[in-house]
This record gives sequence, structure tokens and C-alpha cells, in this order.
Amino acid sequence: VHFTKEAGVLDRILGKSSQKIYAVDGVTLKIPAKTTFGLVGESGCGKSTVANSLLQLVDPEAGEIIFEGENIIEADRQKTKQLRRRMQLIFQDPISSLNPRKTAEEILEAPFRIHPDLKKSVESLDEEIDRLFEMVDLSRQARHKFPHEFSTGQARRIGIARALSLRPDLLVCDEPTAGLDVSIKAAVINLMIRLQEELDLTYLWISHDLHVVKHISDRLGVMYLGKMMEKGDSDVIFREPLHPYTSALFRSSPGVESDEKENFVLEGEVPSPINPPPGCSFHPRCQHAMDVCRQQEPDLQKIDERLVACHLYD
Ligand code: SF4
Ligand code: MG
Repeated sequence: VHFTKEAGVLDRILGKSSQKIYAVDGVTLKIPAKTTFGLVGESGCGKSTVANSLLQLVDPEAGEIIFEGENIIEADRQKTKQLRRRMQLIFQDPISSLNPRKTAEEILEAPFRIHPDLKKSVESLDEEIDRLFEMVDLSRQARHKFPHEFSTGQARRIGIARALSLRPDLLVCDEPTAGLDVSIKAAVINLMIRLQEELDLTYLWISHDLHVVKHISDRLGVMYLGKMMEKGDSDVIFREPLHPYTSALFRSSPGVESDEKENFVLEGEVPSPINPPPGCSFHPRCQHAMDVCRQQEPDLQKIDERLVACHLYD
């Protein structure tokens, strides 16, 4: 996924004035097959916009999304549809995403009705639905329940099974464990890890939950105000974050960084993308800000096996 500098993703148009807001600007992600890319950053940093544009839910103004060698943005509608099916979204609040008048079984049957070729590809729809329920460890009884009767854990599993029914290669998981209590969260994460191995899935994992991201991701990207601040091998960055924003983010999540100060708070708020600060967009909140930071935007440069956008390393 590559969004060209200064021609990133137009996220929304403000009222009648068509002021452009670049929710994502100059961001590049490479997600090797069968691996997990963790994307972190505070709310409003453009993580979901990356996901939504990858899934064609918003149109990037410029850039490219290469999926197995094909540029999705340039592909014709037929091709886009084919490619799009192989990328599925798993998001938080699964219950509201499920049709309240349909049972779990009917919810899982729906994709087969929408995609006749998918239905043709399975010998027996009943067996296929059984297989999907088994894949996500859902009991037979759950088949006839309606969404309001699902527990949060069941709802999340049904959401996952529905995404899997389309035989995706890439799952975009946007806050997949948000709102789950600890034991259900652990079970869902273990399920996702097992499914990745069994089905050779690739994950883009977007989350505020750094503990989960640390556990699950192979590569990591840290975004701030629509830009990539640090990117590289997840273990390398968690071991020693170099960007002041990454450090602050880790320290504000207790137990993530080994030498953290207790009760660290990331002071201030993410500035508005309508009027981003000049220079390094993190400078109003950065303890290390220098004159150059207020004037010049730092480029991503390679430092110790990862990319970092910060003048401290110039
Ligand atoms: Fe802080 Fe300057 Fe680095 Fe930005 S470029 S993170 S303001 S030190
Ligand atoms: Mg989001």
C-alpha cells in the first residue's frame, strides 16, 4: 500500500467548503503474505483510513494498492470485485454489524447467496457452514441464535466466520479485540493466530492495544497525524523505540516498555488534520523538539534496522 506524499487519502469534505484533509499522507506499507502488520497510533492518526482505503471504502486521491502484483486502484470493476473479495474486514462492535433478524446460520449463508460462484465451489452448503462454525470453535447450538442472543465472544467468532466464508487471503482487523474482557480477548487472539497458520492468512492488525500488537505482529508501523513515524520489525521497535512518539505511546501503555516511567501520560492531544503543525507534526507534544522540528518535516530514514522520521537522527 503506497499513498503518495501530499496526495494521500481524502478522508472527508468539510460541509460545503471542499477543504481537503489528508487523513493519510505519504504512507507505505508492505505486508508479506502470511505475516501480521501491526498499525498503531492514537485515535485520529489515520489508521482506519489506511484500512478503509485498502478495502476501497474510501478512494485514495493518489497512490497505489498492490495486491499480489495488481494495482487495485487501476483495475477494472470486475477485477476490483474479485480482488476485493479476497480482503475482508473484521472490526469491533460485531453485533451491530450483523443483521438482527437473521440467525447465525443465515448470516453465514448470506455470502453464498451473494456470490453464486462461491456457492458453486462448495459441494454442500450445509457442510461448508458446519466447517465454518468448527473453524471458529462455535457450538452447534449457536447456529440458531439471533445476534441479540450472542455473547460478545460468540458475535466476534461469527464475524470472523463470515469473513472466512469468502476465503480471503488478507484480513484487515480494525480494533478486533476492543471491548472484550481479558479472557475472551485472549481466546479471540489465540483463535486468530491459529487461523492464520491453518489458512495461511495475512493480517493488517490495527489496534490501540499495544500488548496485543506486541504479541501478534511481525512488522509494526506507528502513525501520527496521517504520517508514518516509525516502521520496521515489531520486536526491534518494541525492544528499543527510537521515535519520541513511539516511546511516548509505549510508555503510556503500562507494561509495554521495560524502562517505563510509572503512570506516564502522553500529554496534549493529536492536533487537527485541518491545520497540522508545521515541520514535524509531533513537535507541539515532543520533549525533544528543536528549532529545526518547527520548520522542517523530517524524512523517514533508515536507523538501526527500521525507518524513523525524526530530526534527532539527522
Ligand atoms: Fe521530536 Fe523533533 Fe523528532 Fe519531531 S523531529 S519527534 S519534534 S525531536
Ligand atoms: Mg480507528
